[in-house]
Amino acid sequence: MSAEISRRDALKLSGAALGSLALPAWVASEANAATPSSRNALFNKLSAFDPRMEPVAPDAMRISFMGTSVIERRAQQRMSLFVELGNGDSFVFDIGSGSVSNYVAMGVPWSKMRRIFLTHLHGDHTSDLTHVYCFGPQGDGKSPLYLFGPSRSRIPNPGFFNGSGSDQFHNPQYFDDGILDFAYHFREMNRWHTESQSFVGTRWKDGPGGPAAPADGYDIYATELDWKTGESGNRWTTSRYLRDNPGFNAGKWIAYQNNGVKISFFPAIHDRNGSISYKLEWKGLSMIFTGDTKPNHFLIDAASAGKPVDVLISEIVVDPDVWVSKQSGITDPTNPTYQAGLLNAEAVQLNSHTPQRAFGYILNRLANKGKAPRLAVGTHFQSEDDTNAWALEDIRAWYSGEVAISTDLMVIDASRGSMQVRRASVSDYSWSAKWTDPRQVNGTYNPKYADPQTCNPYRPMGPLNQLDKDLLAQVIPACDYDKAGFMCTQPYPTTSCKVPQI
Ligand SMILES: [Zn+2]
Repeated sequence: MSAEISRRDALKLSGAALGSLALPAWVASEANAATPSSRNALFNKLSAFDPRMEPVAPDAMRISFMGTSVIERRAQQRMSLFVELGNGDSFVFDIGSGSVSNYVAMGVPWSKMRRIFLTHLHGDHTSDLTHVYCFGPQGDGKSPLYLFGPSRSRIPNPGFFNGSGSDQFHNPQYFDDGILDFAYHFREMNRWHTESQSFVGTRWKDGPGGPAAPADGYDIYATELDWKTGESGNRWTTSRYLRDNPGFNAGKWIAYQNNGVKISFFPAIHDRNGSISYKLEWKGLSMIFTGDTKPNHFLIDAASAGKPVDVLISEIVVDPDVWVSKQSGITDPTNPTYQAGLLNAEAVQLNSHTPQRAFGYILNRLANKGKAPRLAVGTHFQSEDDTNAWALEDIRAWYSGEVAISTDLMVIDASRGSMQVRRASVSDYSWSAKWTDPRQVNGTYNPKYADPQTCNPYRPMGPLNQLDKDLLAQVIPACDYDKAGFMCTQPYPTTSCKVPQI
């Protein structure tokens, strides 16, 4: 019986809810499955710990999986990795939708999320950037946001007709689809948000907690990483100071170099020109994150360069028949809807992803060169008992080294002497993470919308500066509903203390 048929049969069984039917032995042995899906025994059997109580060790690298899925599901947010180093540095790799709630649950403050490396500009890798950007400076992220990502695709627009024949207003010969275009439009897209919340201080000033932030929390410094040439010198920033003082070095195929940390990049092959993978190296430890990609030789070369990688994190994808069965609920291969779905799933794999078996093959190639990673991790994957078992079966067909399948809140602590894989135990009801930026003792520069009048009880904040007088005239006075409240006992504005006119 081929693996393909056995998978479809297992899906039929799970779909039909046949209760106590015995599962194939390999499901039970690999994943200790009680039911074929809706559980994750691999994850649940990891030892639990509270990451807020156990900071990363000085000689270690911690990788926390904050989003691990391509599709939308409550158990797994979209792709994001958080890498913390023992020297205090921290880096975000991709920031897919929903992942920020895991950062908050893990107690990661905004100040630790100021360097973000995007593998490509798909929404499942970028959507929560909006949240980091908009709300970071409201917390302790009162320092500029550094963005890294791929250059333009350089693919001609097939809808372009030399300015005629199209009903599109914006139909250029080439689209502006690189990270610098993204950063500029992203900044402007969020203009109403950032202005409206700039009545609070958004930039740390100089003081005993350290030097002032080099620019405002709403400033962006974006670095373009050329997927074809390896150039990294094209930048875009909102800050004149940052333009002249980026604060890190870069070079050919090197995105970032500072404080003993090197983050290099190499091409990925995913959907459209303009996807990249990253390799982080620090103190003899290393990590590769592929982002989304078809299996490729760039990865084998990057993972073979120098000493073996400590943690190699690759996307993997379920077999097309598993995808279409799970998605549609149809398991009959003669059903036309199933067949159309299967062709679509196969086309997506062809242009985009690394099949489970291909990941095993790549690991085997590395092992044959003496370059097997200490730990290989599959991610960007719907991780549950049956899919985990099938993935491990496919990877094991080629490779016998250490392999983990990630899900949200899996945490790897890697040092030279040890490699720990655990699960974070967190609250589903967490509030925003505690501020940890030491400059909080310095306070901030005055807000952009400041109201320094001594009669303003909120000074220097100007919470009413951006509201029209006709709107303010319609506010229900606080004393009408709460005579003891602050807004009644400390009224503002008053007849003698008016809101400044913009
Ligand atoms: Zn993706």
